[in-house]
Amino acid sequence: MSEPLVVIGNGMAAARLVEELGQVALGRHSVLVVGAEPRLAYNRVLLSSVLAGELPVADTELKPLTWWKAQGVTLVYGRRASAIDRESRCVVLEDGTQLPYARLVLATGSDPIRLPKPGMDLPGVVTFRDHDDVGAMLAAAGPATRAVVIGGGLLGIEAACGLAATGTRVTLIHLMDRLMERQLDAEAASLLNAALEARGITVLLGADTAAVEGEGCVEAVRLADGRDLPCDIVVTAVGIRPNATLARAAGLATARGIVVDDHLTTSDPAIHAIGECAEHRGTCYGLVEPAYQQAAILARHLAGMPAAYEGTVLATNLKVSGVPVFSAGDFLGAAGTESIVWRDPGLATYRKLVLRDGALAGAILCGETADAPWYLDLIRSGRPLGPLRDRLIFGQALAEAA
Ligand SMILES: Cc1cc2nc3c(=O)[nH]c(=O)nc-3n(C[C@H](O)[C@H](O)[C@H](O)COP(=O)(O)OP(=O)(O)OC[C@H]3O[C@@H](n4cnc5c(N)ncnc54)[C@H](O)[C@@H]3O)c2cc1C
Repeated sequence: MSEPLVVIGNGMAAARLVEELGQVALGRHSVLVVGAEPRLAYNRVLLSSVLAGELPVADTELKPLTWWKAQGVTLVYGRRASAIDRESRCVVLEDGTQLPYARLVLATGSDPIRLPKPGMDLPGVVTFRDHDDVGAMLAAAGPATRAVVIGGGLLGIEAACGLAATGTRVTLIHLMDRLMERQLDAEAASLLNAALEARGITVLLGADTAAVEGEGCVEAVRLADGRDLPCDIVVTAVGIRPNATLARAAGLATARGIVVDDHLTTSDPAIHAIGECAEHRGTCYGLVEPAYQQAAILARHLAGMPAAYEGTVLATNLKVSGVPVFSAGDFLGAAGTESIVWRDPGLATYRKLVLRDGALAGAILCGETADAPWYLDLIRSGRPLGPLRDRLIFGQALAEAA
């Protein structure tokens, strides 16, 4: 008889897990997925394209309802799990419904961080995490609207560009002295800065938010230096926090996220965690590729096959059409590395490769990113560059031809 497997969270990691289970453990479990959002699992990465008007909402759906049915999965969505009873092995929903499990997978993702500053709960302050957030932004957007986006990381920049594409007048404020400081060096960040300003976005660096001001709704963002930025909508994109609330309340080992071992198993052998809610070897990831790799490993593990997750070398792509940016690995260049740099100010392109011990350790590409997959493969494999090194900077076609 198939054993009951309950998945909490109907996001990208959960959908991939079901897909992987279908490949390696068909019929072994009777799967039930419970998700708080009132819709089928969707590709969250595409929210930026929906905001920019490049994609209809319907096209973000990961799998149609018929697919879930064909997998034999019971879907309970629009309902939140409120507790895990580890002793009786069941998940409790908000309305008291109990869902028994033999195996439980936590795939609860992350919550956007809200700045602990006055006014953050005013109507007109939105985060950028789900379809409802995008709906709220689009409802307010337009040429008569002024928006302040707080946070100059990947999400903040994509929100700013998406809003700017609707004609909204956008100011992007960032605490640090350069955009995307966790993925870009100063030169690449300044190219990005110029590309955003060319789209009409005002970028303020070193700008510390003191408060959001307004009588009953957003009217301005006040900076710590006293400046007021009048606006009608505020988008906060200042980071995410792994959603480990249920796990913590159930007494599982947690740190920033839900602590898992190389089999994606928590401190309770019957409970697993994958995706952004999981913390593996001290790292909580905020990108989808690790979530997908974890889903594949966990499916194999649940099928009784040998599999271990060893971590993911991260790569970031900014999804703003016309502003290609890629970064991976050790992009700054730690001690003991050497950097090869190629810049063309006229074309606004910049390429930096960081080498360690004769292998590629990191890369930044700005303005032209066609070679990104090749560089990423070299970084991940760590293979010796040998004669490739001399032409590496010119990209795959030229380097390999030589
Ligand atoms: C605008 C945007 C752009 C992004 N762009 C990129 C990108 O370019 N590249 C990239 O790699 N990543 C990107 N990401 C990140 C990527 O979307 C996430 O890494 C990915 O969605 C993580 O998958 P997950 O399943 O762990 O979490 P999620 O997809 O967030 O799914 C978690 C689900 O669990 C549900 N849930 C939580 N608690 C409960 C509960 N108690 N009961 C029931 N359900 C619950 C949540 O409602 C949510 O639906 C982006 C994210 C956003 C918001």
